[in-house]
Amino acid sequence: MDHFDYRDGALWCEDVPLARIAAEVGTPVYVYSAATFRRHARVFRAGLAALPRVHLAYAIKANPNLAVLRLLANEGYGADVVSGGELRRALAAGMPADGIVFSGVGKTRAELAQGLDAGIGQFNLELEEEGEVLADLAQARGLRAPAVLRVNPDVDAGTHAKISTGRKQNKFGVPIDQARAIFDRLGRRPGLHLRGIAVHIGSQLSELAPLEAAYARVGELVAELRAGGHAVSHVDLGGGLGVPYRAGEVFPGPAELGTMVGRVTAGWDAELMFEPGRVIAGNAGVLLTQVIWVKPGPDQDGAHPYVIVDAAMNDLARPALYDAWHDFAAVEPTGGRMVANIAGPVCESGDTFAMGRDIDRVASGDLAVFRTAGAYGATMASTYNSRALVPEVLVDGNRYAVVADRVAPETLIAAERVPEWL
Ligand SMILES: *Cc1c(COP(=O)(O)O)cnc(C)c1O
Repeated sequence: MDHFDYRDGALWCEDVPLARIAAEVGTPVYVYSAATFRRHARVFRAGLAALPRVHLAYAIKANPNLAVLRLLANEGYGADVVSGGELRRALAAGMPADGIVFSGVGKTRAELAQGLDAGIGQFNLELEEEGEVLADLAQARGLRAPAVLRVNPDVDAGTHAKISTGRKQNKFGVPIDQARAIFDRLGRRPGLHLRGIAVHIGSQLSELAPLEAAYARVGELVAELRAGGHAVSHVDLGGGLGVPYRAGEVFPGPAELGTMVGRVTAGWDAELMFEPGRVIAGNAGVLLTQVIWVKPGPDQDGAHPYVIVDAAMNDLARPALYDAWHDFAAVEPTGGRMVANIAGPVCESGDTFAMGRDIDRVASGDLAVFRTAGAYGATMASTYNSRALVPEVLVDGNRYAVVADRVAPETLIAAERVPEWL
């Protein structure tokens, strides 16, 4: 459920008409609904309410805008970060350090040190050597680094290959059958408090069965570790819940997740950690765009026209990257329909949002949105084709704020140098 609704024939975000934001901020622009973020944060928490001990670490790569992070910190969320930059953001937004989990397969030594110096709550180790290096860095500081070992359960999440992370050929985690031996060795390191297991099998999951299979394997490992004399106090169950991108799609939600987790983890007696990203942010944002042209198709009959919008693959990469679908809707629909291709201005054919799509009839100058763009949208934006970095707006009730500026090409050019020997 979100708070982007039509009132008297025009699309609003909460109590602000999108046309007003377009007029005042310009397009393309991401528009987020604070009420939707809050609602998702609360529904997710409520879904897990029956579990005994839970820590929620929002996966900030889904949408790392500072205002979004502050909002979620206010909802009691910690953060799952995957780089030193994300760690800085989480702290800058006021998230408590001890609620921050540091994931990622390529944390540098400098990033591990940054996490230690910040006093973060947990490191999710991806390989044995990382644990050795972290232990040494911590010991040199007189610290014991809280850590869990990320395992790869070799489960097919049934999602797009590029966002699947839990099969054995993926780069993430240690093979689950090696975890016990690694635990034995790393567990002896004085600089490390190896306290549990992490797993995350992928994103945009449409079913719970793969998650359940992965969690069941983790449960067996937890029992094996305990039988071997290890204390296991924390299990990080990752993120991955999918969201509907097309009207009418139905996905398992936090309540179903909570029921499944309660069943699988009964008797684990550990703090359970969750790293939701997309399910919190996805439907809380739209990409607001303006139609530049409606370009006739190549043939008189048959071929569809191209709706050329001012948003492009550099602003919203998911269609080009994952063949992803984003619903497209006019801000002030006339009631007419058309079948069209939708593309941006970038000079490659990959800059196409949809082909042969049945959409609201639009004309040059009309405003429209790509829906469900709150996650993996602005965070993936680039300046390809020397386009401005897309701005972001947060609406809360009847007010809104620009929470990320449009970064103009002039600013980007100012950060470049032509050496004097040219
Ligand atoms: C990306 C990621 C998440 C969040 O995934 P969603 O599908 O957005 O919920 C959680 N944990 C880790 C380790 C990740 O890499």
